[in-house]
Amino acid sequence: MSVNRELFDDVMVPNYSPSAVIPVRGKGSRVWDQNNNELIDFAGGIAVSCLGHCHPALVEALKSQGEKLWHLSNVMTNEPALRLAKKLVDNTFAEKVYFANSGAESNEAALKLARRWALEVHGEHKSQIISFKQGFHGRTFFTVTVGGQAAYSDGFGPKPGAIDHAEYNNLASLEALISDNTCAVMMEPLQGEGGIVSPTQEFVEGVRALCDKHNALLIFDEVQTGVGRTGDLYAYMGLGVTPDILTTAKALGGGFPIGAMLTTTELAKHLKIGTHGSTYGGNPLACAVAEAAFDTVNDPAVLTGVQAKEQIFKQALQKINDKYNVFSEIRGKGLLIGAVLNEQYQGRGKDFLNAAMAQGLMTLVAGANIVRFAPSLIIPEVDILEGMDRFEKAVNTIVNG
Ligand SMILES: *Cc1c(COP(=O)(O)O)cnc(C)c1O
Repeated sequence: MSVNRELFDDVMVPNYSPSAVIPVRGKGSRVWDQNNNELIDFAGGIAVSCLGHCHPALVEALKSQGEKLWHLSNVMTNEPALRLAKKLVDNTFAEKVYFANSGAESNEAALKLARRWALEVHGEHKSQIISFKQGFHGRTFFTVTVGGQAAYSDGFGPKPGAIDHAEYNNLASLEALISDNTCAVMMEPLQGEGGIVSPTQEFVEGVRALCDKHNALLIFDEVQTGVGRTGDLYAYMGLGVTPDILTTAKALGGGFPIGAMLTTTELAKHLKIGTHGSTYGGNPLACAVAEAAFDTVNDPAVLTGVQAKEQIFKQALQKINDKYNVFSEIRGKGLLIGAVLNEQYQGRGKDFLNAAMAQGLMTLVAGANIVRFAPSLIIPEVDILEGMDRFEKAVNTIVNG
């Protein structure tokens, strides 16, 4: 059997359009394809591989747990899940943890908890969920409807109701929608998929104040921003605004699928026995790997390193832009960085991604006009600089044909 890109079109549902390159192994921030071509990874599996590929601590955790116990179901609890939950609680505002397998599932749990809480504490009228245009919260039907891109939620028949969308960084637009009937406001504390948009301090504080005024819960979707990505363990810490519910996934497992919803004891009690669940959520294998990832990232040296690497990244991009004039802005926080294409290159994000791939560099886009970078949090400086050399070559091929 030849395992190649053509086979994808033969046997896979066509909802993705992967590149022609098929990687077969990785180490740190480098990846090798079927023909042993080497790639530098500035994509991090979409902000997932926070410690690069095959980090020794994660490999060790996977191997040792893999020889002990893989799965039980939630009919029993297990040591890795309890240890990881304790660490999440000890290091955040949260007092209680619910484990899931992905970002969408963690958000699904957050939204269901918010609705339960509102129904039980306030009554049926308090069901409205407000989120933001261009926001992204996952692909289950509830989370994709809460997300702010109709293109993702339309075309599947009747949607879950009582969901409204305000404009990000526009407090007046939230103020116009919110009322005592609002159950929760869900937001990313830095919009990822929507274009690497940071909230202003005034906005995020204003959202918290409006939630407090109307007795609505504030849910931070930190699926992309969490676990060190912005240079803080969680982005809310850098903003100084604490949510009532926080969701985390992507980097939490460093590449192993896991997600979690964090909240207070007071709220958690509304998900009482039998109200929600997951077969795999809190699986020992996933939790053992996540515990190793969390321990490794939750180190002041790693978090300060993210801030230092952010500067190297942004300066290198600025230098390329000084020479080629392709970006109108370089933005983002920590190692979640967006280079916004200027007027002349509108809609060509994918061309930049493809040109970079041709030079041996993996990047991401966020929409049609933004090249996104979400590398390993511990990417060595030499890999950043070599990757940027490749990116400059890619930019040159686009600008000079
Ligand atoms: C990726 C992402 C999700 C969805 O996570 P999945 O693991 O793909 O379900 C949700 N919210 C945000 C902010 C994300 O970036």
